[in-house]
Amino acid sequence: MFIHYVLHCKNCVMPLLLPRDTIEQPFADQDYRPNDSLCVGVACPHCKSVETYFLHKKHPQHNPRDQAWLLENRVEVTAHVSTLECEEQACKARLPLFAQWRQTTTEQERVADIATWLWEHLQCPDGHSIVKPKGWPSKTEPFPH
Ligand SMILES: [Zn+2]
Ligand SMILES: [Zn+2]
Repeated sequence: MFIHYVLHCKNCVMPLLLPRDTIEQPFADQDYRPNDSLCVGVACPHCKSVETYFLHKKHPQHNPRDQAWLLENRVEVTAHVSTLECEEQACKARLPLFAQWRQTTTEQERVADIATWLWEHLQCPDGHSIVKPKGWPSKTEPFPH
């Protein structure tokens, strides 16, 4: 049995099933925890909106509909894409960003998918805006190597 976080996309409300060990991996090192709220960014595979989610149940911005479920099989589609920095220079919070792709997707398909993401709502755990990092794929620029 595998524990999964079941989140509901803040934009389209579709459920997102994320294995807990994958999501918590960036938080495993006590000295380099990206933030103290178990706060993550997730790109919704359905509507492409990138949103911020607070997984700690006691956090005021936690959605009570979002819960941890035990599932028979691991849902093997979640990837840690990057850990984003806040726009505010003084802000030390970091936001691990996850996406859901079939394991068979190629690097090119992932880049093409990232180019469709909508970044308007993404915030750091302290509520500052996070814009799409410079050099990330968009529909008009190729991904740099
Ligand atoms: Zn969505
Ligand atoms: Zn911030």
